[in-house]
Amino acid sequence: MKAGRGYIPIELKAVVAALVIILAAIGTISWINLERAHEANQRSLQSLTAGYASSIAVASELPLAVRDQNELDRLLSRYLRSEQIIEFVAILDESGELVSSASRDDLEEALLTTCSTGESSDSESAHTSNDYTIGTAEVLTLSSDVSSVFDDFGFQAPAVDPESGSATDVYPSLETLGHVHVGTSNEGLRTLHARGIRSAVTTTLVAMVLCSIGVTFFVRRWSTRLQKLMDATRHIAEGDFTRELPKDQHDELGILIEAFESMRCSIQDRDASDRKQKEQLTEATRQAEEANTAKSQFLAHMSHEIRTPLNGVIGMLELLERTSLHSKQKRFVNVGRSSADALLQLINSILDFSKIEAGQLELESIDFDLGEVIETVTEMLATKGQTKGLEIACSVSPAIPERVKGDPSRLRQIVLNLLNNAIKFTEQGEVVVRATVVAETERATTVRVSVSDTGIGIPAEKRARLFKSFSQVDASTTRRFGGTGLGLAISKSLVELMGGEIGIDEERDDGSEFWFTVEFEHADNVPEPTVLASLEGARVLIVDDNQTNREILIEALTNWNARPIAVDHAYNALEMLRAATESGEKFDCIVLDMQMPDMDGLQFAETVQTDSSIDQYPILMLSSIAETADLNDLESFGITSYLPKPTRLSVLYEKLVSIIKPTSLTSKEGSSGRRGRADSRGCISGKRILIAEDNPVNQMVIQELLQQAGAKVEIANNGSIATQRWSQDSFDVILMDCEMPVMDGLTATGRIRTMEFESNRPRTPIIALTANAVQGDRERCLNAGMDDYLTKPIEPKVLFRTLESYLAKTTTNHDDVPAHEHDEPDPAPPTESLPSPDAPAESVKLTTIEIESALNRCAGNAGLLLRVFEEYTKATRRDLEELRRLVDFGDLDAARTVAHAIKGASANISAVEASRLASQIESLAKDRNHTEIQKSLKGLQSELDAVFEDLSKAPSALADQGTEDSHA
Ligand code: ADP
Repeated sequence: MKAGRGYIPIELKAVVAALVIILAAIGTISWINLERAHEANQRSLQSLTAGYASSIAVASELPLAVRDQNELDRLLSRYLRSEQIIEFVAILDESGELVSSASRDDLEEALLTTCSTGESSDSESAHTSNDYTIGTAEVLTLSSDVSSVFDDFGFQAPAVDPESGSATDVYPSLETLGHVHVGTSNEGLRTLHARGIRSAVTTTLVAMVLCSIGVTFFVRRWSTRLQKLMDATRHIAEGDFTRELPKDQHDELGILIEAFESMRCSIQDRDASDRKQKEQLTEATRQAEEANTAKSQFLAHMSHEIRTPLNGVIGMLELLERTSLHSKQKRFVNVGRSSADALLQLINSILDFSKIEAGQLELESIDFDLGEVIETVTEMLATKGQTKGLEIACSVSPAIPERVKGDPSRLRQIVLNLLNNAIKFTEQGEVVVRATVVAETERATTVRVSVSDTGIGIPAEKRARLFKSFSQVDASTTRRFGGTGLGLAISKSLVELMGGEIGIDEERDDGSEFWFTVEFEHADNVPEPTVLASLEGARVLIVDDNQTNREILIEALTNWNARPIAVDHAYNALEMLRAATESGEKFDCIVLDMQMPDMDGLQFAETVQTDSSIDQYPILMLSSIAETADLNDLESFGITSYLPKPTRLSVLYEKLVSIIKPTSLTSKEGSSGRRGRADSRGCISGKRILIAEDNPVNQMVIQELLQQAGAKVEIANNGSIATQRWSQDSFDVILMDCEMPVMDGLTATGRIRTMEFESNRPRTPIIALTANAVQGDRERCLNAGMDDYLTKPIEPKVLFRTLESYLAKTTTNHDDVPAHEHDEPDPAPPTESLPSPDAPAESVKLTTIEIESALNRCAGNAGLLLRVFEEYTKATRRDLEELRRLVDFGDLDAARTVAHAIKGASANISAVEASRLASQIESLAKDRNHTEIQKSLKGLQSELDAVFEDLSKAPSALADQGTEDSHA
């Protein structure tokens, strides 16, 4: 029996149960026997005592009849002496008077009590009291009259009833002379009883011991067999099927063990075959995965390889397009161009898809303006929709945070795909992009983006297949609209990679609505809300026939605390304006749609201008991008300003503020946030900023940005020069790169802080510039004595905001800069003019560079970006050559520094893949993995070739961008 199992073992239970049963059985039997023996003993004593009484009665007949007292006493003493068991004896006459008695010891009282109560009608009887057994007998003699007659004839006289006088029986009549009482002691009886009890208890105990030995023996035999069965079961449960159970006796348990053993054998066989199958399956899965990865890598490689010559084809076609061609040739070129574009798009999708399949797609996590991404995508595709006659609208809820953390380019790709589909599958009506907040926590915001259209819709039964790769609703769609059937599958994978969900609105029966939700973490650097001029209370009349547009405008204006009133028709608007003139309750501005039925925007504006019953108001015209290009001389129609649709709400806000009673509005303190920001560059103007940075591309970008904001900038190529320059001159801020040759930024900062302390100089704010956005980097910079931290590539807005937070505190003004330049710098830095393409029919697509984000990084300055591209090409070609040489040479430390430089420079121009590959080489060099570096270097080489190729097309791409921007 093993203890501590947490249960009472069956063996113990069986033994205890058996003992209890045995105890109960033997105890009951012994008790019954004991009682019976006791009763028998009692009866024997009673008859013995009654016998004594009878014989004394016979012996005492004569002395009693003659009343011979002495004889009676002698008789009784004799009996007392000869029969040790007799305790007392007494003779009483027929009237109950004690005639003679004898007793042992002092038993007088017991004797008297017995004699007074012991009367009995029986001639002979006995009973048992507490201490004695009392026997009683009558002393009889023949009746004197009858007996004399009978005596004479020698017969015994018959008994005669004294009352009736007839004979009562055949026996002669007897006369009672008295009674004899004999008392015998119960002591012997008790002794006998006690002995009986003792022997019963002994017998029971002995029986119990013997039984328990026997029961234990048997139970143990059973329990041992059960235990073996239990152990075997446990082994099986633990997956060990090898423990064999030996053959057992042929009884029930034996049969059970046998059945168990055969079950174990079959499980063991099955397990072995399962194991084998599993191994085969694992091997097959591994091979399949390897094959799949090889396939995906091949696909990725091939798409990349195809993309390069295709870019050449597109470039050549584009150049061909710009030469003088006759109409037939132009048509051929156009067809060639659109086919090449379609092919490029297809290859890009396949590349994305294979990357996702191979698990190679990594998401970025950077701070970005979510609303801006959605508005930009809508803007990008708006022309496409508008040329089809569609109304394209975009509504970004004011609740959406200005900056979030995530992957903007992948978000853009998802929205682009959904919007592209919506426009593709809609012939008339509208396409609306909406972004709303569905949940907000301390850590993150969950955003829902939906794209709805009034197009061909998707039959309910086909919706389930939608997000599967290569799936299209029906084959005819492909013929009519083209497409790969990959867009939604890629979007789904991207949304799921971001931890979100994507779906289609099942309720809709007109057109379709695709939606996705993604949780974005709050940005690390959240801009301080800037107090702006207010639109509070401004009465704005919205004239637009499209209900969605009216709703979006009303929501935005209400959010800005304005008082919007919307009408769907120009005639109704004119009525309203007339009524306003009459009542004197005037409007502050009219927001007017260009394209309306019956009376378009221009006609309406003209009527307002000429109708004397209507007051004049500033009019803001909203028109599609295509129409905007054709709009000339708007002022002559009385239109104050115009904006392309879909209108960015931030731009609309700024525009409204600028045209509605500018003086009165700017004096109010108003709304803040995303819908129109004040420029943060005012306080930078005239300030002295030292840039310690070795990378020429970075130097150029930061220098240009700061100079445009009016700062006086100086460059130091390494930490040592920076320290020297600081000791000679005073600066309002130092931007310090962390990794530089000769002396790194952390050491330089340490030196500057020491010198400040020693010379009691006021502290100069030092802001770290680092490409390693890794955890702990910030702490490292702050510990080195830096004040703040910016990650590269530098976002102009973040740069300005950070600088502002330091420069706003300083009062220094080193300058000769005229006062007005300090007050309000030009909110948009001067954009250098770009070569405009002769015939910008199709926009040039750069596949390796995200030109839009690169442009944003240069604060929209395309001229600067082109110079950056030029510098990048020069520097990176040189660096690549150097990197190859160093890797061949095996100098991995130096190779790491060069890879770091390529990584930073590529990130700066948003050549994301090139930057990633360079970063990979940087970490491989750190791990001294020479073989892998060789491989990765090839990848970097071909990616950079594609980047250089794209950069050569950048002027045209920027010209396209510029055309779009100029509409904005
Ligand atoms: P494709 O490149 O073929 O457009 P997608 O994966 O983006 O591939 O879309 C798959 C299919 O889903 C499309 O071929 C089309 O049949 C259907 N679809 C997608 N979006 C819409 C939409 N907005 N309206 C109607 N059908 C749509």
